[in-house]
Amino acid sequence: MNKTYYSFDDIAVEEFGMKPLNMRTKDKQKLESQREKLEGVCVYCKQRAKFIPGTNIVVCVNPSCKGKKVVVKGDPATEEPDFVRYVPFVRVLSDKAAEIGNTIFDD
Ligand SMILES: [Zn+2]
Repeated sequence: MNKTYYSFDDIAVEEFGMKPLNMRTKDKQKLESQREKLEGVCVYCKQRAKFIPGTNIVVCVNPSCKGKKVVVKGDPATEEPDFVRYVPFVRVLSDKAAEIGNTIFDD
């Protein structure tokens, strides 16, 4: 007798050996450690960075972290002074990491 399936996911998993769409763990501690590992830390302030759901980027959200200091040299000829600016921390994830991020932060 044929087995009765109730969703395409069941067929995909059992008949085609595909993985279930949402592989996210139900274990809260494990999920938190996966999130922590994916987000990592800001290289400038060493605080935990934040994944932005729906994107492939991780950013620093520490309000007191300015990011990387960049000195843009002025021009002595025109007496233009050196100019300091800050580049905030942003890390672009690989496609695979972004996919994982969007799964483990999907709530
Ligand atoms: Zn930072």
